[in-house]
Amino acid sequence: MRSGCQVTALLVYANLLLAQGETPAIDWEAKFRTIPSAERQREYMERLAARPHHVGSPYDKSNAEWLASAFKSWGIGTQIETFDVLFPTPKERTVEMIEPSKFVAKLQEPTVPGDPTSGQHGEQLPTYNAYSIDGDVTGPLVYVNYGIPEDYEQLERLGISVKGAIVIARYGGSWRGIKPKLAGEKGAVGCIIYSDPRDDGFFHGDVFPTGPWRPKDGVQRGSVMDMPLYPGDPLTPGVGATAGAKRLDLKDAKTITKIPVLPISYADAQPLLAALKGPVAPVSWRGALPITYKIGPGPAKVHLKVKSIWDIKTIYDVIATIPGSEYPDEWVIRGNHHDAWVNGADDPVSGLVAEMEELRALGELLKQGWKPKRTIIYCAWDGEEEGLLGSTEWAEAHANVLKQKAVAYINSDANGRGYLGMSGSHSLQEYINGVARVIEDPEKKISVWKRDQLRRILNARSDEERNELRSHPDLRIGALGSGSDYTVFLDYLGIPSLNLGYGGEDEGGIYHSIYDDIYWYTHFSDTDISYGRTLSQTAGTAVIRLADADLLPYDFVEFSSTVRRYLDELKKLLKGMQDQIKERNREIVEGVFTATADPKETYVPPSPEGIPPYLNFAPLENAVTGLTTSADRYDKALKRAMQSGRPPSPTLVNMVNAKLIETERALTSSEGLPGRPWFKNLIYAPGLYTGYGVKTIPGVREAIEQKKWKDAEGEIVRVARALENEASLIHSAAAELEKSLGTR
Ligand SMILES: [Zn+2]
Repeated sequence: MRSGCQVTALLVYANLLLAQGETPAIDWEAKFRTIPSAERQREYMERLAARPHHVGSPYDKSNAEWLASAFKSWGIGTQIETFDVLFPTPKERTVEMIEPSKFVAKLQEPTVPGDPTSGQHGEQLPTYNAYSIDGDVTGPLVYVNYGIPEDYEQLERLGISVKGAIVIARYGGSWRGIKPKLAGEKGAVGCIIYSDPRDDGFFHGDVFPTGPWRPKDGVQRGSVMDMPLYPGDPLTPGVGATAGAKRLDLKDAKTITKIPVLPISYADAQPLLAALKGPVAPVSWRGALPITYKIGPGPAKVHLKVKSIWDIKTIYDVIATIPGSEYPDEWVIRGNHHDAWVNGADDPVSGLVAEMEELRALGELLKQGWKPKRTIIYCAWDGEEEGLLGSTEWAEAHANVLKQKAVAYINSDANGRGYLGMSGSHSLQEYINGVARVIEDPEKKISVWKRDQLRRILNARSDEERNELRSHPDLRIGALGSGSDYTVFLDYLGIPSLNLGYGGEDEGGIYHSIYDDIYWYTHFSDTDISYGRTLSQTAGTAVIRLADADLLPYDFVEFSSTVRRYLDELKKLLKGMQDQIKERNREIVEGVFTATADPKETYVPPSPEGIPPYLNFAPLENAVTGLTTSADRYDKALKRAMQSGRPPSPTLVNMVNAKLIETERALTSSEGLPGRPWFKNLIYAPGLYTGYGVKTIPGVREAIEQKKWKDAEGEIVRVARALENEASLIHSAAAELEKSLGTR
């Protein structure tokens, strides 16, 4: 049994150091939490979201300059770093049905009366999916549900091929870039993505402007670059897109889609879907439009055309630095993006204004004499929406120094009303739980930690889960795949990362549309910005704790037990596949499929398959056991050190931190994951066919899913090695602590 107060104890330990010196211990983080203001955040939002500010627009650059001057006015040294990235904008877009009747999609989001910024059409980006390849294609239409792997398995059973077809997929079920990628691999020539009201529209509530949900003409823009391969500028993988960087030719850029793709509204989708014949879609495929959902192919025949201007545009990252007083070469990094698809009051401005208030408050503390021990770097990224461009290029450009110095990266993005979402590296789980315990929820006046715990108890599906929630000192945090600016830090550099934000009571359907604006945000989301203030308090407290703790507050006991759970999941995955294939083969022999197939409908029965072999997980089992032993030893040594009452010497702190800072880096491999060398972290990555969704121990997991058994065993050994390296670093950190305590 371990205490949940290790971080607090670490701070006490840190304060013991202070007690020896001249300075009286001031509770800087409590002081900090009184400073952020909701009113100021509202003012910043009015400025930042006043006009469309996507990459390459005048207002994007203007916002970056305004941010930099605000940061400077708070006494923080700030600079703008620029990169030059590929950014296509459309000059021709067509979606039209040519058979059996004529219909031309509008591809326009209309002005909403009463919403003042929705009419800024001159500056709004058209509705499109960035990094779609140019194309002009015509073909029969096929409805593919979400367009994810299981949907294509279903199509195969129904005897439907998408070869030569244009597929129409609804948003959801995966990251959007997976839809054209998979459709292309299956032989489709084009892809249309629409927002179905079942997932994003009137099915959930009143539509904008009466309510928060997506109106019939609202369109979700978004990037479709193949981010599971690598994010960032398609022309400069692995290096910063600086002026002199070596660039790929456009034709060699691997992350641009293979087939053209455009997003449409449900008003535009309905006539297309209504014109489909063929089998009625399975129940789970049916949306909320007043039609019978059918799959096709055809008779609807569709013409899709996309042509873009393939420009290089400058992006502007705003970087503010507070130098550390004791450990200036250990960096705490905090970021949120500033670019949007259109006005982006929610995404990203709601998170950005919270980050701004943190920095202003830190500036106030500095004026009052606070001297953070570590260097703190606040970043406002450009180009997140297109493919995490600003953060990726910056981190690639500074990769070597970041690998040496970064102790953690803390991200936020759009913020809303409700519960604290915290996910990230499990080595930071205990520390971030400690932060959540001291933050007050503005609606319920209990800690945001308590509120989250109680909600989890309500939603738990078993007694076991409820018991754990009541007895485990900390709430488990989810693993991160991709989806915002933490990706390069966690997945490419192996820097412990966190993503923080509030939500759950702020639902709506304006994501990536022209209606994501101040009117929507202040009527339907965190209307008084009280959760904006709470996010400032949360992330700012997290930054101060990391910056001022002498020993880095990483926790490996929780990390090792989580890795053991991931290992168990892999074993379960294999067992599940074996059982399922065994059973299906048996049913094929029994004649289940031929006996039950309706002769009046097309049905292609599955073919028998080889049963997956047993895999040797032993190297990973041993490595996890070794990791657990080292983690326990470090935990014990740390507790003894805290109980000793003697503050650690600066030499000891330096020696231990030098080991600790390497621990998350040890989880990376310079060769990266199979087939995608940019992704170096062997524990966390976005899935190849899920996109944002995280795959833990991705090399092994995806080899099993793809039935590459030899590769799976090779990956098991590689992950085991990484965990062994981590264990030995933790072991030597523990040994340093023990040495300082003497043998007792
Ligand atoms: Zn965002």
